[in-house]
Amino acid sequence: MRGTVLYGPGDVRFEERPEPAVLAPTDAIVRTSATCVCGSDLWPYRGANPITQPTPMGHEYCGIVEEIGSAVKTVKPGQFVIGSFAASDNTCPHCQYGYPSSCEHREWISTAQAPRLRVPLADGTLVATPDVPSDELLPSLVTLSDVMGTGWFAADAGNVKPGGTVAVVGDGAVGLLAVLSARQMGAGRVITMSRHESRQKLAREFGATDIVAARGDEGVARIKELTRGVGADSVLECVGTPESMTQAIQSTRPGGSVGYVGVPHGVTLKGEQLFYSHIRLHGGPAPVRRYLPELIDLVLNGKINPGKVFDLVLPLERVADGYRAMDERRAIKALLRP
Ligand SMILES: [Zn+2]
Repeated sequence: MRGTVLYGPGDVRFEERPEPAVLAPTDAIVRTSATCVCGSDLWPYRGANPITQPTPMGHEYCGIVEEIGSAVKTVKPGQFVIGSFAASDNTCPHCQYGYPSSCEHREWISTAQAPRLRVPLADGTLVATPDVPSDELLPSLVTLSDVMGTGWFAADAGNVKPGGTVAVVGDGAVGLLAVLSARQMGAGRVITMSRHESRQKLAREFGATDIVAARGDEGVARIKELTRGVGADSVLECVGTPESMTQAIQSTRPGGSVGYVGVPHGVTLKGEQLFYSHIRLHGGPAPVRRYLPELIDLVLNGKINPGKVFDLVLPLERVADGYRAMDERRAIKALLRP
């Protein structure tokens, strides 16, 4: 089998890899129906998270179960499944509390940009659909593995309420799906910060009511202006830089919430500034597994179509082109078909 391996900045190869095998009785082997390139894959691709050795890539996936270990009970070969980017047992105290991405036995999925992958803790990690879905649903279903679940968590952590005013910082795939999530949760107004026409258009399709192209202090001022000087009830931070985090905190009204899902790179917060901002902060790696049943239903019932976020579809062997297109911001997100 061939799979995706990152060798260093800008150097992605699709090359011969060992076939995945059941290593523990709780493992499953999944044949990938669709996978994709994540914004977080771009950090090591750009050298921002230096790697020390060739590293297999990919953590977003859906597909058909091919093989299961002797202890696996909830999924069986032939079923179509979607799993989180973080494998979890779904039984430990953190899983029970709703935070499977902090599972005591968590394992990060990291070999999904390949035709087959091993999924640890299959019973806790994978959710099967009632039937094998049609091909048109695959783009939306694969987003539930990470990017859509992460946008949903941003809105959930940001305490989005029916009728509330939401601002979304970041117009990448997660930010755009955070817009969709906020609207689905009933937000009255969703302000998207974006300066790219194609992304603004998709944000509007997903339910954004206002677009702010300005950034930094000017962007904060625009959000204040749009909210009569108050600030947004919920701000969803979907980038992870010091600028985006500062912008999010300053755009939030006292008593409001910031849901932050951009993996922080160089973000430091000043205690005093936080203290006087009077805001709630909640974020982290999204507990995608918790949301899977609900989000699968929404997709299968045609209520949401997060797959629209893919503006580039490539055969898996051209994965390197997907990274390049996203790195150069020519594509919002690349779908890969084995
Ligand atoms: Zn757990």
